[in-house]
Amino acid sequence: MQTESGLKVKIGLEVHCQLTALRTKLFCTCSSDYRSSEPNEKICPVCFGLPGTLPVLNAKAVEYATMIALALNCTVANRSVFYRKNYFYPDLPKGFQISQYDKAGGVAIASGGEVEVGGKRVRITRIQLEEDPGKLTYEGTIDKSTYSLVDYNRAGIALVEIVTEPDIEDAREAKVFLEKLRSIIESLGVSNGELDGAMRCDANISLAGGARVEVKNISSFKEVEKALNYEILRQRTFSGNASSETRHWDERRSITIALRSKEEEQDYRYFPEPDLRPIVLEPAAIASVQRAMPEVVDARASRYANEFGLSKQLAKELAANKDLSAFFEECAKLGQGHQEMAGLIVGELSARPLPAAGALPPEDFAALVKMIETSAITRAQAKEALREGLRTGHRVVDVVKQKNLSAVVDERAIAALIDRVVAARPGALEEARGDKKSFSYLVGQVLKEEPKAQPGVVAKLLAQRLHGK
Ligand SMILES: [Zn+2]
Repeated sequence: MQTESGLKVKIGLEVHCQLTALRTKLFCTCSSDYRSSEPNEKICPVCFGLPGTLPVLNAKAVEYATMIALALNCTVANRSVFYRKNYFYPDLPKGFQISQYDKAGGVAIASGGEVEVGGKRVRITRIQLEEDPGKLTYEGTIDKSTYSLVDYNRAGIALVEIVTEPDIEDAREAKVFLEKLRSIIESLGVSNGELDGAMRCDANISLAGGARVEVKNISSFKEVEKALNYEILRQRTFSGNASSETRHWDERRSITIALRSKEEEQDYRYFPEPDLRPIVLEPAAIASVQRAMPEVVDARASRYANEFGLSKQLAKELAANKDLSAFFEECAKLGQGHQEMAGLIVGELSARPLPAAGALPPEDFAALVKMIETSAITRAQAKEALREGLRTGHRVVDVVKQKNLSAVVDERAIAALIDRVVAARPGALEEARGDKKSFSYLVGQVLKEEPKAQPGVVAKLLAQRLHGK
């Protein structure tokens, strides 16, 4: 995107995704469920970084990282290694983070993937497996705080870092990419992005090939769009003078603040982790992970289009939501009218939390769709019943009965309605003859007069009228 000042924006993202489905940490047997614990309760000598301890790799974490890599169309390395990333900071008790590296002989677990976002491809540079550092809490704000508190419960939690090429061109695109990434990862069942801090993001932003600024600590995807918009505006204002630095996103004040000049890679003194053996994944092992993998979003969308005849757009919207997809599949087994079903689910259920199990049984929903398909009720009436049922907790099929919902399908009655509407609008019929929009307008006017009229019958009779029948 060209900004108002004509400078091209390039954004690359580093997404940190906790493998929340794991029961233990990456290199020790401490529980990974740290969110409900008191600070520093879920720690042991390994994740607390005491000297003399040895890490043992969590095999399930390797499997989950491989699943993410395959879902993002990456090439999984047959042999990858852990590296030590050395830095001194209180969130890292060992003084180094066990991570992966793709230079100086290092190989990350996967590389070279891509994600399709709105018809465009965002390339994935690499995926690496690493441990999460502890969590620092500052008193007040990070730049003025007189002390900080540290909780090592998070230290050693398995993270998958997903690094993109700088293919993203504005804040909105970054948000769409992240939402897609989250739905892919959630469909694998390896991480729950809803959990606080389970998916975090650093962003590298540059304008027109200027200095690259890294914004760290964006704790949720909601904040990403705000942080990027702020940073693009800031760099545009200082056009040409942005310096290579690391900035912190301050959520409370909605600004980025300078933390330090950007570290160079050599500052981290990367070297191979001597306490861990390389990860060896034979092609057969990768293939077996692939076979056992749940379906990812894109594959699910194309299956919906092929198997149920859904329109491409609707299939995509439905497939992006795991819960709604599961509900749709239950309903689809019970009856026909799949496009109608999917349309109602996406249109009526995605904006609200899915009703608790039992509140909207698939049988009732399928029965409601059948009523539309057989013209017993109109789509508008079905929506009315659905909303009323969800609001009151009554079964939708009962709501239809209670409210006496039924469509008017009697052709004589509808023809009389059309007579009235057409008579009140001289010339409208003539106009509708060659123009789809005017035709739909007339159908709409008839439905306005009688909302219970079955739109299909109205359209049929109106079309006959146009052709002089
Ligand atoms: Zn531990």
